[in-house]
Amino acid sequence: MSDSALDRLECGHCAAPAPTDQLIGTCRACGGPLLAVYDTARARADRIPDAGRGLWRWAGLLPVPEAGRFELGAGDTPLLPTGIGEWLNSGPTWIKDESANPTASFKARGMAVAIGRAKALGAGSLVVPSAGNAACAAAAYAARAGLPLTVFMPADVPRSFQVEARAHAARVELVDGLIDDCGQRAQAMADRDGSFNLATFREPGRVEGKKTMGFEIAEQMGWRLPEVIIYPTGGGTGIVALWKAFNELESLGLIGPERPRLVMVQSAGCAPLVRAFDVGADQADPWPAGATCADGLRVPRSFGDRLVLDAMRRSRGRALTVSDAEMLEYARLMASRLGLFPCPEGAACLAAQVRLVEEGWIGADERVVLFNTGSPLKYLHLWPNSTHPEHTADSDRRIFAHD
Ligand SMILES: *Cc1c(COP(=O)(O)O)cnc(C)c1O
Ligand SMILES: [Zn+2]
Repeated sequence: MSDSALDRLECGHCAAPAPTDQLIGTCRACGGPLLAVYDTARARADRIPDAGRGLWRWAGLLPVPEAGRFELGAGDTPLLPTGIGEWLNSGPTWIKDESANPTASFKARGMAVAIGRAKALGAGSLVVPSAGNAACAAAAYAARAGLPLTVFMPADVPRSFQVEARAHAARVELVDGLIDDCGQRAQAMADRDGSFNLATFREPGRVEGKKTMGFEIAEQMGWRLPEVIIYPTGGGTGIVALWKAFNELESLGLIGPERPRLVMVQSAGCAPLVRAFDVGADQADPWPAGATCADGLRVPRSFGDRLVLDAMRRSRGRALTVSDAEMLEYARLMASRLGLFPCPEGAACLAAQVRLVEEGWIGADERVVLFNTGSPLKYLHLWPNSTHPEHTADSDRRIFAHD
């Protein structure tokens, strides 16, 4: 296994350096999010990706010493070819199916790295605010690392997430409020008892773990990145992570300067980053009382907003919103016609693709990657009538007009 080529941590806002051998969350100079920077000459000399399977094949470009590399099977998820391109008269379209990760969502990637790093650097206990999937992933890795974990979740999060987190022995605290209220409770606990706060962008590991999605897409496509990637965005960790992944691959000489255009999809009921992108702002105002059935998108305020919006602009991407009704309809459609039942967040990507193809923003020869970020099985309450065969939604007619 490769050594980590981590060179330093650097603030994403003010570029102040931070030491790599201490458990530091955010920039000591300005409070901004810390990003990991690698010695690419050293990484280049190593084998990247390494042999074997899973996310630790990329250990040279992850900030985790060997002692923290716990294996629960994260990473190496399939990139599935689909017939979507032909149906839409659009280019070939793949789905990166992240439901194949431990605890059935891509949150496992970030938590594998954040918790592995925390354990290796001596953390004694952990805390995390979560809208659902992050809690389950953190709970599994905390159990594996032998660290106690406290989770703050909105009280109305589906019971499935609470049951799963508790099964992994997490202490689950239900909060009357949204993820940002949970974030304040988690930070208060960290300040009080020294628990390491795993909130995204408040420590450098979760971006690094999610970065491996970008590495895998590049590798799975023969080091020729797609023209468009459509990503369901909550706080935007994945947007920052994908962009960082491609920059690092270029610095290793594995890809050239070409980049996909990133499409950021949020729920119409909670879209602070889309709103900010559309007005050209470099920061996002909080979205009051954000509401959506897609728990992963119910993030009214992102601590990484500046980094997310910057990556979006550089990629010459697009930002759009999808309604909850559309997500459920497209999820049912994908389940019945593709054989892949996505979470509502994943379904939002196809809804966005249909619109961008109709608009002509995605060209007929462009290759598209959609993300299914998790399993729908934790949200089954959302599809009470999903098996009714006579239910032909508008989306079916539009998409399958060419059948
Ligand atoms: C967290 C989550 C998202 C949003 O991911 P970010 O990278 O934090 O924006 C999307 N889908 C699911 C299922 C999630 O759990
Ligand atoms: Zn700073």
